Amino acid sequence: MHGYDLLVVGSANADLVVAVERRPAAGETVLGSDLATHPGGKGANQAVAAARLGAATGLLARVGDDAHGRLLLDTQRACGVDTRGVLIGAAPTGVALITVDPSGDNSIVVSPGANARLTPDDVRAAGELMAAAKVVSLQLEIPLETVAEAVTTAGRAGAKVVLNPSPPAPLPVEVLAACDLLVVNEHEARYLLRDAPAAAEGTPEAWAKALLARGPRSVVVTLGAAGALAATGDGTAVRIPSPRVRAVDTTGAGDAFTGALAWRWGAGDELTEAVRFAVRVGATAVTRPGAQQSYPTAAEVAAL
Ligand code: ADP
Repeated sequence: MHGYDLLVVGSANADLVVAVERRPAAGETVLGSDLATHPGGKGANQAVAAARLGAATGLLARVGDDAHGRLLLDTQRACGVDTRGVLIGAAPTGVALITVDPSGDNSIVVSPGANARLTPDDVRAAGELMAAAKVVSLQLEIPLETVAEAVTTAGRAGAKVVLNPSPPAPLPVEVLAACDLLVVNEHEARYLLRDAPAAAEGTPEAWAKALLARGPRSVVVTLGAAGALAATGDGTAVRIPSPRVRAVDTTGAGDAFTGALAWRWGAGDELTEAVRFAVRVGATAVTRPGAQQSYPTAAEVAAL
Protein backbone atom coordinates (compact mmCIF):
# COMPACT_ATOMS: atom_id res chain seq x y z
CA MET A 1 0.00 0.00 0.00
CA HIS A 2 1.50 3.33 -0.96
CA GLY A 3 1.45 6.12 1.59
CA TYR A 4 -0.62 9.28 1.44
CA ASP A 5 0.77 12.68 2.30
CA LEU A 6 -2.88 13.59 2.79
CA LEU A 7 -6.11 11.62 3.02
CA VAL A 8 -9.23 13.78 2.77
CA VAL A 9 -12.38 12.35 4.32
CA GLY A 10 -15.33 14.39 3.15
CA SER A 11 -17.86 15.47 0.60
CA ALA A 12 -18.02 15.42 -3.16
CA ASN A 13 -20.74 17.45 -4.87
CA ALA A 14 -21.71 18.50 -8.35
CA ASP A 15 -22.32 22.26 -8.41
CA LEU A 16 -25.13 23.01 -10.88
CA VAL A 17 -25.05 26.71 -11.70
CA VAL A 18 -27.53 28.84 -13.65
CA ALA A 19 -27.15 32.60 -14.11
CA VAL A 20 -30.45 34.49 -13.80
CA GLU A 21 -31.53 38.11 -14.17
CA ARG A 22 -33.44 37.84 -10.91
CA ARG A 23 -33.59 34.97 -8.43
CA PRO A 24 -37.16 33.55 -8.34
CA ALA A 25 -39.57 34.38 -5.54
CA ALA A 26 -41.88 31.71 -4.07
CA GLY A 27 -44.08 30.23 -6.78
CA GLU A 28 -42.25 32.09 -9.54
CA THR A 29 -40.48 30.67 -12.58
CA VAL A 30 -37.63 32.52 -14.24
CA LEU A 31 -35.51 31.65 -17.27
CA GLY A 32 -31.76 31.40 -16.88
CA SER A 33 -28.53 30.72 -18.74
CA ASP A 34 -27.30 27.36 -19.94
CA LEU A 35 -26.54 25.03 -17.07
CA ALA A 36 -22.89 24.84 -15.94
CA THR A 37 -21.85 21.71 -14.01
CA HIS A 38 -18.71 21.96 -11.86
CA PRO A 39 -17.05 19.43 -9.56
CA GLY A 40 -17.21 20.66 -5.96
CA GLY A 41 -17.79 19.73 -2.34
CA LYS A 42 -15.27 20.70 0.35
CA GLY A 43 -13.67 17.25 0.54
CA ALA A 44 -13.22 16.88 -3.21
CA ASN A 45 -11.94 20.48 -3.41
CA GLN A 46 -9.28 19.94 -0.75
CA ALA A 47 -8.10 16.71 -2.39
CA VAL A 48 -7.75 18.37 -5.80
CA ALA A 49 -5.94 21.35 -4.25
CA ALA A 50 -3.33 19.15 -2.57
CA ALA A 51 -2.87 16.80 -5.52
CA ARG A 52 -2.37 19.66 -7.99
CA LEU A 53 0.38 20.99 -5.71
CA GLY A 54 2.10 17.61 -5.87
CA ALA A 55 0.95 15.87 -2.68
CA ALA A 56 0.27 12.12 -2.71
CA THR A 57 -3.43 12.47 -1.98
CA GLY A 58 -6.34 10.13 -1.37
CA LEU A 59 -10.06 10.81 -1.00
CA LEU A 60 -12.51 8.89 1.16
CA ALA A 61 -16.00 9.91 0.09
CA ARG A 62 -19.25 8.60 -1.37
CA VAL A 63 -20.84 9.48 -4.69
CA GLY A 64 -23.88 8.13 -6.51
CA ASP A 65 -23.84 5.63 -9.34
CA ASP A 66 -24.68 8.40 -11.81
CA ALA A 67 -23.20 10.92 -14.24
CA HIS A 68 -22.32 13.42 -11.51
CA GLY A 69 -20.46 10.74 -9.60
CA ARG A 70 -18.50 9.82 -12.70
CA LEU A 71 -17.63 13.48 -13.34
CA LEU A 72 -16.30 13.79 -9.80
CA LEU A 73 -14.27 10.58 -10.02
CA ASP A 74 -12.84 11.55 -13.42
CA THR A 75 -11.81 14.98 -12.13
CA GLN A 76 -10.16 13.55 -9.05
CA ARG A 77 -8.21 11.01 -11.10
CA ALA A 78 -7.20 13.57 -13.72
CA CYS A 79 -5.65 15.62 -10.90
CA GLY A 80 -3.80 12.58 -9.57
CA VAL A 81 -5.98 11.82 -6.53
CA ASP A 82 -6.12 8.16 -5.48
CA THR A 83 -9.85 7.32 -5.52
CA ARG A 84 -9.74 3.82 -4.06
CA GLY A 85 -11.52 5.28 -1.04
CA VAL A 86 -14.43 6.72 -3.05
CA LEU A 87 -17.49 4.54 -2.49
CA ILE A 88 -20.26 4.43 -5.07
CA GLY A 89 -24.00 4.14 -4.58
CA ALA A 90 -26.64 4.26 -1.81
CA ALA A 91 -28.04 7.59 -3.05
CA PRO A 92 -27.61 10.09 -5.89
CA THR A 93 -24.40 12.15 -5.89
CA GLY A 94 -24.65 15.25 -3.71
CA VAL A 95 -25.54 18.38 -5.63
CA ALA A 96 -25.61 22.10 -4.98
CA LEU A 97 -28.32 23.87 -7.03
CA ILE A 98 -27.04 27.42 -7.46
CA THR A 99 -28.67 30.46 -9.04
CA VAL A 100 -26.56 33.59 -9.40
CA ASP A 101 -27.88 37.04 -10.28
CA PRO A 102 -25.94 39.83 -12.04
CA SER A 103 -24.92 41.41 -8.71
CA GLY A 104 -23.24 38.12 -7.76
CA ASP A 105 -25.78 37.27 -5.04
CA ASN A 106 -26.80 33.64 -5.12
CA SER A 107 -29.38 31.22 -3.77
CA ILE A 108 -28.21 27.68 -3.08
CA VAL A 109 -30.02 24.44 -2.30
CA VAL A 110 -27.76 21.57 -1.27
CA SER A 111 -28.91 17.97 -1.61
CA PRO A 112 -26.30 16.00 0.39
CA GLY A 113 -27.31 12.72 -1.32
CA ALA A 114 -24.51 10.16 -1.13
CA ASN A 115 -22.47 12.39 1.21
CA ALA A 116 -25.10 11.80 3.90
CA ARG A 117 -24.66 8.04 3.42
CA LEU A 118 -20.92 7.99 4.20
CA THR A 119 -21.14 6.05 7.47
CA PRO A 120 -18.88 5.30 10.44
CA ASP A 121 -18.79 1.71 9.12
CA ASP A 122 -17.40 3.01 5.81
CA VAL A 123 -14.63 4.74 7.77
CA ARG A 124 -13.87 1.63 9.83
CA ALA A 125 -13.66 -0.41 6.62
CA ALA A 126 -11.08 2.07 5.31
CA GLY A 127 -8.74 1.63 8.29
CA GLU A 128 -5.92 0.59 5.98
CA LEU A 129 -6.18 3.85 4.01
CA MET A 130 -6.14 5.84 7.27
CA ALA A 131 -3.07 3.95 8.46
CA ALA A 132 -1.28 4.90 5.24
CA ALA A 133 -1.84 8.64 5.74
CA LYS A 134 0.40 11.23 7.39
CA VAL A 135 -2.56 13.59 7.73
CA VAL A 136 -6.32 13.07 7.63
CA SER A 137 -8.32 16.19 6.75
CA LEU A 138 -12.03 16.56 7.51
CA GLN A 139 -14.91 19.04 7.07
CA LEU A 140 -18.57 18.86 8.09
CA GLU A 141 -20.42 18.08 4.85
CA ILE A 142 -20.67 14.40 5.87
CA PRO A 143 -22.52 13.05 8.96
CA LEU A 144 -21.05 14.21 12.28
CA GLU A 145 -20.83 10.65 13.59
CA THR A 146 -18.73 9.76 10.54
CA VAL A 147 -16.42 12.70 11.25
CA ALA A 148 -16.14 11.56 14.87
CA GLU A 149 -15.27 8.01 13.79
CA ALA A 150 -12.66 9.28 11.32
CA VAL A 151 -11.04 11.49 13.97
CA THR A 152 -10.76 8.49 16.32
CA THR A 153 -9.57 6.05 13.65
CA ALA A 154 -7.01 8.50 12.27
CA GLY A 155 -5.64 9.31 15.71
CA ARG A 156 -5.33 5.62 16.55
CA ALA A 157 -3.53 5.02 13.24
CA GLY A 158 -1.01 7.73 14.09
CA ALA A 159 -2.17 10.25 11.47
CA LYS A 160 -2.44 13.94 12.33
CA VAL A 161 -6.02 15.21 12.25
CA VAL A 162 -6.97 18.50 10.57
CA LEU A 163 -10.58 19.72 10.85
CA ASN A 164 -12.29 22.59 9.06
CA PRO A 165 -15.68 22.72 10.84
CA SER A 166 -17.63 23.90 7.82
CA PRO A 167 -20.53 24.33 7.41
CA PRO A 168 -20.68 25.11 11.14
CA ALA A 169 -22.52 22.52 13.22
CA PRO A 170 -22.62 21.58 16.92
CA LEU A 171 -19.34 19.75 17.39
CA PRO A 172 -18.92 17.18 20.18
CA VAL A 173 -16.26 18.46 22.61
CA GLU A 174 -14.25 15.28 22.23
CA VAL A 175 -14.01 15.78 18.44
CA LEU A 176 -12.67 19.31 18.89
CA ALA A 177 -10.24 18.10 21.54
CA ALA A 178 -8.94 15.31 19.29
CA CYS A 179 -7.91 17.70 16.49
CA ASP A 180 -4.25 18.37 15.96
CA LEU A 181 -5.12 21.40 13.84
CA LEU A 182 -8.39 23.31 13.64
CA VAL A 183 -8.84 25.62 10.63
CA VAL A 184 -11.65 28.19 10.86
CA ASN A 185 -12.75 31.33 9.08
CA GLU A 186 -14.25 34.25 10.99
CA HIS A 187 -17.80 32.91 10.73
CA GLU A 188 -16.84 29.42 11.93
CA ALA A 189 -14.76 30.79 14.81
CA ARG A 190 -17.66 32.91 16.07
CA TYR A 191 -20.05 29.97 15.72
CA LEU A 192 -17.84 27.64 17.77
CA LEU A 193 -17.53 30.39 20.41
CA ARG A 194 -21.26 31.19 20.51
CA ASP A 195 -21.33 30.10 24.16
CA ALA A 196 -18.45 32.48 24.98
CA PRO A 197 -19.60 35.91 23.72
CA ALA A 198 -16.67 37.81 25.22
CA ALA A 199 -14.19 35.75 23.21
CA ALA A 200 -16.44 35.68 20.12
CA GLU A 201 -16.57 39.49 20.07
CA GLY A 202 -12.80 39.81 20.43
CA THR A 203 -9.95 39.71 17.93
CA PRO A 204 -8.86 36.69 15.86
CA GLU A 205 -6.09 36.25 18.48
CA ALA A 206 -8.79 36.00 21.16
CA TRP A 207 -10.76 33.46 19.09
CA ALA A 208 -7.65 31.34 18.62
CA LYS A 209 -6.81 31.44 22.33
CA ALA A 210 -10.37 30.47 23.33
CA LEU A 211 -10.47 27.69 20.75
CA LEU A 212 -7.08 26.32 21.86
CA ALA A 213 -8.50 26.08 25.37
CA ARG A 214 -10.97 23.51 24.01
CA GLY A 215 -8.24 21.08 23.13
CA PRO A 216 -6.98 21.30 19.55
CA ARG A 217 -3.18 21.46 19.56
CA SER A 218 -3.08 24.28 16.98
CA VAL A 219 -5.57 26.72 15.44
CA VAL A 220 -5.44 28.63 12.17
CA VAL A 221 -7.93 31.44 11.54
CA THR A 222 -8.32 32.51 7.90
CA LEU A 223 -8.83 36.23 7.39
CA GLY A 224 -9.77 36.51 3.71
CA ALA A 225 -7.69 39.10 1.84
CA ALA A 226 -5.78 39.77 5.09
CA GLY A 227 -4.29 36.25 5.13
CA ALA A 228 -4.39 34.06 8.23
CA LEU A 229 -3.47 33.74 11.89
CA ALA A 230 -1.48 30.72 13.12
CA ALA A 231 -1.71 29.91 16.84
CA THR A 232 -0.24 27.06 18.84
CA GLY A 233 -0.74 25.75 22.36
CA ASP A 234 2.52 27.31 23.60
CA GLY A 235 0.85 30.72 23.35
CA THR A 236 2.35 31.99 20.10
CA ALA A 237 -0.01 33.60 17.60
CA VAL A 238 1.37 34.95 14.33
CA ARG A 239 -0.49 36.83 11.59
CA ILE A 240 0.62 35.92 8.11
CA PRO A 241 -0.49 38.43 5.45
CA SER A 242 -1.70 37.31 2.06
CA PRO A 243 0.10 38.45 -1.06
CA ARG A 244 -2.01 41.26 -2.53
CA VAL A 245 -3.87 40.08 -5.63
CA ARG A 246 -6.83 41.12 -7.75
CA ALA A 247 -9.55 38.72 -6.60
CA VAL A 248 -12.03 37.65 -9.29
CA ASP A 249 -13.71 34.67 -7.56
CA THR A 250 -13.16 33.50 -3.98
CA THR A 251 -15.25 30.32 -4.40
CA GLY A 252 -13.39 27.40 -2.84
CA ALA A 253 -10.44 29.56 -1.70
CA GLY A 254 -10.77 28.26 1.86
CA ASP A 255 -10.65 24.65 0.63
CA ALA A 256 -7.51 25.34 -1.44
CA PHE A 257 -5.94 27.01 1.60
CA THR A 258 -6.80 24.11 3.91
CA GLY A 259 -5.72 21.36 1.50
CA ALA A 260 -2.37 23.08 1.00
CA LEU A 261 -1.92 23.77 4.71
CA ALA A 262 -2.79 20.22 5.80
CA TRP A 263 -0.32 18.80 3.30
CA ARG A 264 2.65 21.03 4.17
CA TRP A 265 2.08 20.89 7.90
CA GLY A 266 1.74 17.09 7.81
CA ALA A 267 4.95 16.91 5.78
CA GLY A 268 6.78 18.50 8.71
CA ASP A 269 6.79 22.23 7.96
CA GLU A 270 6.45 24.55 10.95
CA LEU A 271 2.85 25.76 11.24
CA THR A 272 3.73 29.36 10.30
CA GLU A 273 5.75 28.14 7.32
CA ALA A 274 2.85 25.93 6.17
CA VAL A 275 0.43 28.88 6.54
CA ARG A 276 2.77 31.11 4.54
CA PHE A 277 2.56 28.57 1.71
CA ALA A 278 -1.22 28.15 2.08
CA VAL A 279 -1.97 31.90 1.82
CA ARG A 280 -0.05 31.94 -1.47
CA VAL A 281 -2.16 29.02 -2.70
CA GLY A 282 -5.38 30.76 -1.57
CA ALA A 283 -4.30 34.03 -3.16
CA THR A 284 -3.55 32.34 -6.48
CA ALA A 285 -6.90 30.54 -6.43
CA VAL A 286 -8.89 33.78 -6.02
CA THR A 287 -7.31 35.32 -9.13
CA ARG A 288 -9.11 32.76 -11.30
CA PRO A 289 -12.78 31.83 -11.70
CA GLY A 290 -14.32 28.70 -10.18
CA ALA A 291 -13.24 26.40 -7.40
CA GLN A 292 -11.25 23.31 -8.43
CA GLN A 293 -10.39 24.74 -11.85
CA SER A 294 -8.80 27.76 -10.11
CA TYR A 295 -6.37 25.70 -8.02
CA PRO A 296 -2.69 26.23 -8.80
CA THR A 297 0.25 23.92 -9.30
CA ALA A 298 3.35 24.37 -7.14
CA ALA A 299 5.06 26.18 -10.04
CA GLU A 300 2.17 28.65 -10.31
CA VAL A 301 2.34 29.32 -6.56
CA ALA A 302 6.08 29.94 -6.80
CA ALA A 303 5.49 32.35 -9.70
CA LEU A 304 2.96 34.47 -7.77
P1 ADP B 1 -13.49 31.12 3.39
O1 ADP B 1 -13.18 31.03 1.92
O2 ADP B 1 -13.60 29.81 4.08
O3 ADP B 1 -14.62 32.07 3.72
P2 ADP B 1 -11.47 33.16 3.84
O4 ADP B 1 -12.35 34.16 3.17
O5 ADP B 1 -10.83 33.54 5.11
O6 ADP B 1 -12.21 31.77 4.08
O7 ADP B 1 -10.34 32.77 2.76
C1 ADP B 1 -9.49 31.66 2.94
C2 ADP B 1 -8.10 31.98 2.42
O8 ADP B 1 -8.19 32.27 1.01
C3 ADP B 1 -7.46 33.19 3.05
O9 ADP B 1 -6.75 32.85 4.21
C4 ADP B 1 -6.53 33.67 1.93
O10 ADP B 1 -5.35 32.89 1.94
C5 ADP B 1 -7.32 33.34 0.68
N1 ADP B 1 -8.11 34.50 0.21
C6 ADP B 1 -9.44 34.68 0.30
N2 ADP B 1 -9.82 35.87 -0.22
C7 ADP B 1 -8.68 36.46 -0.65
C8 ADP B 1 -8.37 37.71 -1.31
N3 ADP B 1 -9.33 38.59 -1.62
N4 ADP B 1 -7.08 37.96 -1.61
C9 ADP B 1 -6.11 37.07 -1.32
N5 ADP B 1 -6.33 35.90 -0.70
C10 ADP B 1 -7.59 35.58 -0.38
